[in-house]
Parts: sequence; C-alpha cells; structure tokens
Amino acid sequence: MATVAKAPSQKAPEVRQTECFIGGRWTPSQSGKTFETLNPATEAVIAQVAEGDAADIDAAVKAARKAFEQGPWSKMDARDRGRLLYKLADLMEAELDELAALESLDNGKPIRDAKAADLPLAIDCLRYYAGYADKIHGQTIPVRGNYFTYTRREPVGVVGQIIPWNFPILMVAWKWGPALAAGCTIVMKPAEQTPLTCLRLARLAQKAGIPDGVINVVPGYGPTAGAALVKHPGVDKIAFTGSTEVGKIIMRDAAATMKRVTLELGGKSPNIVFDDCDLDAAVAGSHFGLYFNQGQCCCAGSRLFVQEKVHDKFVDKIVAMNKSRKLGDPLDMATEQGPQVDREQFDKIMGYIESGKKEGAGLLSGGNRFGDRGFYVEPTLFTGVSDDMTIAKEEIFGPVMSILKFKDLDEIAARANNTCYGLAAAIWTRDIQKAHTLAAKIRAGTVWINCYDVFDAAAPFGGFKMSGIGRELGEAALGSYTEHKTVTVSLG
Ligand code: NAP
Ligand code: MG
Repeated sequence: MATVAKAPSQKAPEVRQTECFIGGRWTPSQSGKTFETLNPATEAVIAQVAEGDAADIDAAVKAARKAFEQGPWSKMDARDRGRLLYKLADLMEAELDELAALESLDNGKPIRDAKAADLPLAIDCLRYYAGYADKIHGQTIPVRGNYFTYTRREPVGVVGQIIPWNFPILMVAWKWGPALAAGCTIVMKPAEQTPLTCLRLARLAQKAGIPDGVINVVPGYGPTAGAALVKHPGVDKIAFTGSTEVGKIIMRDAAATMKRVTLELGGKSPNIVFDDCDLDAAVAGSHFGLYFNQGQCCCAGSRLFVQEKVHDKFVDKIVAMNKSRKLGDPLDMATEQGPQVDREQFDKIMGYIESGKKEGAGLLSGGNRFGDRGFYVEPTLFTGVSDDMTIAKEEIFGPVMSILKFKDLDEIAARANNTCYGLAAAIWTRDIQKAHTLAAKIRAGTVWINCYDVFDAAAPFGGFKMSGIGRELGEAALGSYTEHKTVTVSLG
C-alpha cells in the first residue's frame, strides 16, 4: 500500500486576488455572488471568489475591445509587446515558489511537480512567444499582371479563452503567450475549481506593464460565464481546453457569430510497449505517463498495450512502484501524489474502478480511497483489460492504469486507432524501423518514442479526431491568433 508523506514542509500561501479583473480593475461580480474554491487535500474552503456571469463577461469584452481598437495595445510596437511578455515571465520566475504553492493549494497537485514542471514550462512558453512578437509577418507574392501583392498577418482581435483545472498556470501561458504575441486582447474564464493562480497572474501581468484591458479575467461557471463568452458578438475567437463534451457545445454556440475556435479536448491515448524495449525505461515512462498529475492529463497513456513476452515482468514492476508511491500533503516536497481536484472527479473515478471490477478486469493494486479526508485515490492498476471494457474506452482522468496485452505489430496499429480520440500516443522499442512505421500509422497529434509527456513550447500539441481542432504551442498556435490579409496594388 502507498505510504503517507511526512508533515508539510511549506506554509500555505496567501490568497490575494479573488475578484474579477476587468479593464485593469479588481471588481466584485455585478450580481454580488461568490463561489467557494476548495483545498482538495482537506476539503476546506480556501476563499470566496467573485462569481462572474453574462454581465461581467460583457464588461470584460468591452474592455478588451477598447484595448484592442483604441488602447495602447494596437499602437504598440511588436517588439515592445515582446518585452512585456519577457517581463511577465521574469515576474513569474521571481515568484515561482509562491505561485507553485498557490497552484498546489487550489488544485491539489504535489508542489514538487508545480515547481519542476508547471512553472518552468509556463515561464518558458511565455519567453518563447515573447521572442515571436516581432517576427510575425506576411509575404510578397508574385501574381499575374501588373500588380504588387503582399500579405499582412493581423491579430484576430478579442479572444475568449476558457481553461480547465488540471494545469491552471500552464494553460494560462499556452493561451496568453501566442495571443499576446499576435497582438490580441483577452477575456479569460478559469476553471471554477482553480481560479486563484490565473487571478494572481493577471496581477503580475499588470505589474509587468501590460496595459489595462489587454488581459481580463472573469472567474465563474461554464454554463453561465463560459457560455456568455462563447456567444458574445464582441469576441472574435474562442480557445478552449477541456472535455470533448463541452467542446461540442462550444462549437455549436460559436457558430452563430462565426467565431474561430480552437479546441484541445480529451483523449484515450495508446501507450505501446514492445518486448524489445528498454524495460526499465518503459516502466518508468509509462508509470509517469499515466500517474503524473494524479492521472489528470488529457494525454495520459491510459490504454497501455504491453507485448506478451514482457507483460508479466512489466506488471510486477508497476505494482512495486505503486506500493512505494508517496501520497500525502501536496505542499510537502516529498509527496508524489496528491488528491483529485474535487468530489465530482473523485466520484467519477471510483465509478470507473467499480466498472473495471464488474467487467472482469484484474485489480492488481489500489482501487480504494486513500485516507479519510481529501479526494485521494490510491494508484490503481488493472490487468487483463480488453478493448471493449468501459475503462479501455472512456477517459477516466484519474490514477487508474489499464494494461492490455498484444501479440504483434500487425494487430497493434488498428487496436491503437480504435477510439474516437487522437491526442497522443507512445511507442517503446529499440527497433527504429518498427518505431517510425508505427508512428506514421497512429492517428494522433503527438507520438512519443521511448519517452512520454515531453512538452516544449516550440512543439505543436493538439488532437486528431474528437481530441480537438487546431494546435497549441509552436508556430502553429500563432496561426490561430492571426488573420491573413491580402493587399493588392495596381502598378498601372
Ligand atoms: P469541462 O467542463 O470541459 O471544463 C473545462 C472548462 O470549460 C471550464 O472552465 C468549464 O467551466 C468550462 N465550461 C463548462 N461548460 C461550459 C459551457 N457550456 N460553455 C463554456 N464553457 C464551459 O471539464 P470538467 O467538467 O472540469 O471535467 C470533465 C472531464 O473533462 C474530465 O473528467 C476529463 O475527462 C475532461 N478534461 C479534459 C481536460 C483536458 O486537458 N483536455 C481538462 C479537464 C478536464 P467550469 O469550471 O464551470 O466547469
Ligand atoms: Mg480549488
């Protein structure tokens, strides 16, 4: 059984921003309503946060529109926009410990992960796009006749950004970086479970000198604040990360005003371990690829296909890792696994564990709640999982690993692709021909070979099929925050 981590090594951080951030001002919601944000490790209320709805979204969109059309933003040199982004990244770096602690408190993720992954990746992402701000340009294009034709790449305008709770700070960076580099202005709705760090980052953006109205944050619920943002005629584009179910609602709601949409949605990613792999590397990478962030990753390797010959050894090693995994206070640097984000996610995961048992999978470790306070789930392992079981088909979004056996290369590509999703995949083998042949066959936006969850600001990320539309990160993301304008001049 997993062990409890020691006493907390870090004090809980102070909560300083809980109101809407609109046009550079902190304001309560117009309705006066608030909602609670909880510490998922203790189930205690951390703070009351302004509950924005349609009226607050409208005010925020007007502020963003004004900053886009009249404010200093549209008139600022691109290079200066870049400097402000670098400044924001520097301020985040200076407050890294505090931001990591606040993220850990509100989300439940181990502070060691927030410090080692979320914050450094977010800061790197902002710096990557800071460097792009003055390098977004059009082309001169030879056309028939006596004309001179060139293109301009202009910001798409006011963008609505809706983010989930699994990587709150990182999702802010993925969304603000390309939008600001392109010259857009922003209205963001953070997830209801984790509004605190997004609000803190809005304060840092103001401190960095990003002009008022360029970034607005309205905390609140999806069906009210989120839907109002998607339907608002003053918004030109929606960038969304979350469930496929809500992604469909967003596409439908955005259609009336023909908004551009980019959607980064769910997944059920195949992770394929061949018997000629480096076994220890495959075990460590697969364990990380599923249990990292309490399994709350859109790209989690949740269909783990292991080739017959190596199957039993692989399983033994995973069981051993689960036994020694440290669950406990997320603010303790020794903790490897914290609680799930809220009761709803906890209940959903426990429901999937029940379905795995009922449908005949073999439960080799975990399967229960951990402790009696907070939304902790033991690291859980099912073997003997078949392709048609519910746990092999639906996104669990929790620390539940499902191992499926396979025989050979011929069978595996079809089985890996037998899903409505196509976000990520991984392949573990020493045979480069096999690796690249399979990588080309898998219908997914990202394929990792002999690694898992390797992210870089420069490398595009997004889904095939029902895992989404468009790409985040890299040059690809900039494309979705700009419009191409063609200008043709008669030369007489
Ligand atoms: P979700 O409902 O898709 O939430 C994502 C964001 O969308 C949140 O900010 C949410 O607001 C907002 N939202 C909800 N309904 C909306 C609507 N009608 N219009 C506009 N915005 C709306 O995800 P969830 O309920 O938190 O999690 C459910 C499942 O989604 C998880 O179990 C997991 O399978 C998947 N998920 C995927 C990702 C990913 O990275 N792809 C991330 C999180 C969750 P609220 O805060 O009010 O919900
Ligand atoms: Mg919370």
